[in-house]
Amino acid sequence: MAPANTKEIYGSLVFNEHVMKERLPAATYRSLKATVQKGRPLDIELANVVASVMRDWAMEKGATHYTHWFQPLTGITSEKHDSFVSPMKDGTAIMEFSGKELVRGEPDASSFPSGGLRAVAEARGYTTWDPSSYAFVKDGTLCVPTAFCSWNGEALDKKTPLLRSMKAVSDQACRILRLFGKDVAHVDVTVGPEQEYFLIKKQDYERREDLILTGRTLFGAMPAKGQELEEHYFGALRPEVSAFMKHLDEELWKLGVAAKTKHNEVAPCQHELAPIFDRCNVAVDHNLLTMELMKKLAPQHGLVCLLHEKPFEGVNGSGKHDNWSLSAPGLNLLDPGDTPRDNLQFLIFFAAVIKAVDEYQDLLRMSIASAGNEHRLGGNEAPPAIVSVFVGDELDAILSAIASDSEYIAPQAVKIDLGVDVLPKFAKDNTDRNRTSPFAFTGNKFEFRMPGSSSNISDANTVLNTAVAKELMGYADELERAQDFDSAVIALVKRTIRDHKRVIFNGNGYTKQWEAEAARRGLACEPAASDALAAMIAPKNLELFSKMGVLSQTEARSRYEVKLEHYAKLRHIEAVTMMEITRRQLVPAALGYMTALANGIAAKQAACPGISCKAEEKALRQLTNYTDAMSDAADRLEAQVEAAEAVPEGQAQSRARAYHDQVLPAMNALRAAADAAEAICGQEYWPLPSYSSMLYYV
Ligand code: ADP
Ligand code: MG
Repeated sequence: MAPANTKEIYGSLVFNEHVMKERLPAATYRSLKATVQKGRPLDIELANVVASVMRDWAMEKGATHYTHWFQPLTGITSEKHDSFVSPMKDGTAIMEFSGKELVRGEPDASSFPSGGLRAVAEARGYTTWDPSSYAFVKDGTLCVPTAFCSWNGEALDKKTPLLRSMKAVSDQACRILRLFGKDVAHVDVTVGPEQEYFLIKKQDYERREDLILTGRTLFGAMPAKGQELEEHYFGALRPEVSAFMKHLDEELWKLGVAAKTKHNEVAPCQHELAPIFDRCNVAVDHNLLTMELMKKLAPQHGLVCLLHEKPFEGVNGSGKHDNWSLSAPGLNLLDPGDTPRDNLQFLIFFAAVIKAVDEYQDLLRMSIASAGNEHRLGGNEAPPAIVSVFVGDELDAILSAIASDSEYIAPQAVKIDLGVDVLPKFAKDNTDRNRTSPFAFTGNKFEFRMPGSSSNISDANTVLNTAVAKELMGYADELERAQDFDSAVIALVKRTIRDHKRVIFNGNGYTKQWEAEAARRGLACEPAASDALAAMIAPKNLELFSKMGVLSQTEARSRYEVKLEHYAKLRHIEAVTMMEITRRQLVPAALGYMTALANGIAAKQAACPGISCKAEEKALRQLTNYTDAMSDAADRLEAQVEAAEAVPEGQAQSRARAYHDQVLPAMNALRAAADAAEAICGQEYWPLPSYSSMLYYV
């Protein structure tokens, strides 16, 4: 508990570098490292040694079981626990964990979504150890991070394409660095995801079937006080929240997750946790663990953690800011650097990202599209559904100067060194922070702000890595042939800026004017998730994935199916939950209050004939109207759901569209009627805790 032992507990449940070095025979350790670095499969002799050392270590940490921990296409993570126990003939048992069990597992794959992949291929899938992410002990189980594939080698998970995309970007970035005389073996993608979340009281949560079943409130009249005072941001923490955060930090540290900052967010009850960045796949694994622990630990503090993108209407939603960069040993490739030559190198990587974001803006938008995020994007506080890049005024001026061959006139305070041709030396710190941009350059990294809080950010990073890898490949092809390297680089950067400057936008992304401007520039804007998802199978994008070896056409198409199905299923659950709450809780509540009103009127008039019952009558009439409206709206919703469900299997796109175009508006109509009823129904009659009580608890 005390901060003094933080150092001691940090990573204590992780089979990390330190443990491996200490416990593995030196030769085993060296071969394991070499195998991991080269991305080769592990040979069985080596695996046997590693497995037995891992088992002994895990048992010391209290583990009795092991699991292959993996990331199926929907849901967050999956695990199936097997015990180490192996019974002997004499009635005793030994604890076993073989190399084979370490490197390969065969979960019953049939209940995980595959978008038809396994149906056409093989019924079974298998998991393989990803030795570049450490194993760890969680709840008495040794967790081995794994990738999940079909027997034909097709990816059935989110990790496999992520690892492939990291390899693609590494290979291409190495080619570019070689042109600068830097011979590096690999380039890492670094990611630091900032996680937003809500905490509400457990007793409120338990009274809301909508939160329990769908993660968001499907009803709720606006509270008198919103977030307009902005007093919550960085405000003092409530004691139970503070206790929860301490507990969370501690458990995360044990798992080697470098939780760094925590604070209140803009919305009441909203908070954020940011870790120190790590290698992309590790950062994703850690983020998944973070979400899992948030959910698990909150109830121990009388709280429930909501990771949904939009748990409350009219209140800020939650995202996951994906800070992204590329790094070679000791070198951040998106750091402008001190010399004109460093800047030249920086400019190539920077330009590659700009080009990637412009050419694959639809794919980036696709990568974060979900039923939950659909409510958040384009809200007052979240990035719009349009992808654009913020580069800041200074860099913008420099880029324009390069593109137009003109001299860059720096503001006086900025240090500029006109080096190679027109290349200035940049002032490093980029203090101009634009919070409205979906994709912002923040000094030495990009921050992709569109991913939703509940998402697995593998998708977003896979797309980003793949698109950047493809642009770097094009650059490397061109530059490797160049006669005069420096002028070829400048020509290339110039061309990139000229061709792709439409995606750069430094203004306020929350305004209506920007939407119009973006349309004029031809930027994609698909506010509906069901439409945005179609980018997954656009020919240029299928080509990108297969060219870079990240997803085959079949894999990409199957993912598209899974995403559409998932969208329709979530909307279905929401709609059915709404109907049920309306019919079983809200209408009866309103009827109860109306009966009390009617009885009250009768009693009053019997006691004092002719007495005014104006207030009661007004409430009775209004509530009657709203209740009729609720009841009718529930019937209409039911009809829309039936129509959507009647769309034949195999037409996932039409079904998702039906849910978006028909069911969602019917849900909104029902909510409007119910919220109007809530606003005038007696408080003790209304069964759902109100927004005010949930958001402003003390
Ligand atoms: P903020 O964006 O809130 O101002 P910071 O800029 O300090 O906060 O960092 C936000 C996140 O970005 C942190 O998780 C941090 O570890 C991560 N980050 C910093 N540098 C890099 C990098 N080179 N690559 C990836 N993530 C990074
Ligand atoms: Mg940030």
